[in-house]
Amino acid sequence: MKVVGVFLKGCKYATKNPRFLLNVEAGLGLKPWLEAQGHHYHLTHDKDGPNSELERLLPDTDILITTPFHPGYVTADRIQKAKNLKLLVTAGVGSDHIDLHAAAAAGITVAEITGVNVVSVAEDELMRVLILLRNFVPGWKQITAGNWDVAEVIHRSYDLEGKTVGTVGAGRIGQLLLQRLKPFNCNLLYYDRNSIGEQLEKELGAIREPDLDTLLSKCDVVVLNVPLTDKTRGFFDKERLSKMKKGAYIVNNARGGLMDVDAVVEACNSGYLGGYSGDVWYPQPPPKDHPWRYMENHAMTPHISGASLDAQWRIAAGTKDTLEKFFKGQSFPKEYYIVKPDGQIAPQYT
Ligand code: NAD
Repeated sequence: MKVVGVFLKGCKYATKNPRFLLNVEAGLGLKPWLEAQGHHYHLTHDKDGPNSELERLLPDTDILITTPFHPGYVTADRIQKAKNLKLLVTAGVGSDHIDLHAAAAAGITVAEITGVNVVSVAEDELMRVLILLRNFVPGWKQITAGNWDVAEVIHRSYDLEGKTVGTVGAGRIGQLLLQRLKPFNCNLLYYDRNSIGEQLEKELGAIREPDLDTLLSKCDVVVLNVPLTDKTRGFFDKERLSKMKKGAYIVNNARGGLMDVDAVVEACNSGYLGGYSGDVWYPQPPPKDHPWRYMENHAMTPHISGASLDAQWRIAAGTKDTLEKFFKGQSFPKEYYIVKPDGQIAPQYT
């Protein structure tokens, strides 16, 4: 079979550490294994636009592996061109870069390696909450610029203890974040269409707030942990942001598309939001003039939170296992299915 993998360029870093797998040079370490079985494995980082290598490879691709960190966008148009495509594997978590309805209509199975990097993301979110509250970035910038101005940092630096932190979405990542926040003695709230159950609420010390706007009005920090779906796209527009407490912070490692880009810029620049941090953008990579690069009080990074070396190892192992099952005609673990062979789309995307 022809297997295509879309990964970012590892360049000089690719040879530095054999555990660095999420790059086009390593291709998750799957090449020898795939080729030993007679499959062809094509690797590319060139994913965007009609003249990209991905576009050229698509017509006779059987299996396409993409990753949310360097998303090969699989649009309805591309699915139409990919006449041989049988399986789309998301090497990571979050398959919103794929037109799931078009995949379902074309009889293409979509699988993701659910759960592989949820700890990595939750840890990163905790770091971002602290970075924002302690006003870390201006201090770091001063030092690298040869300056020293304590007042600039501490006139708006807070402890996490005693603050109200809410997660919008309390699935795998949201729950791990709540668990990690508990020892900081803050007030924990969550909003989710499903309850996590009384037992877990008690263990985590978290209270469910059934109304999103009410949660926003209570929180000093809001962390987003919902998938990007037709229902959540643009969830945080100007109106929604206005429900937040003045000076509150947002951490968003979920997806850039949850936000109205300009509304976030306006809220950060006016000081209505105390700050915004996250690693997800649309599109990825974002253009050089993306306004989130230049807005006030941000602590943005490239898409890194779910791609620690530990996570990369789990992503590679899960992808290999998924391919092996596919070649043998076996089913995947049920939580891996985003689009089942019969066209059913996973509940988190409906
Ligand atoms: P999950 O499916 O375990 O949890 C998602 C939660 O959101 C569920 O509890 C669900 O009930 C809730 N939800 C979904 N739609 C909702 C809606 N409309 N209203 C209210 N609640 C809703 O997913 P997860 O593993 O926790 O991951 C969450 C998201 O994080 C992923 O979809 C992905 O976009 C993102 N993610 C980012 C990275 C990264 O590297 N930045 C890595 C992994 C995942």
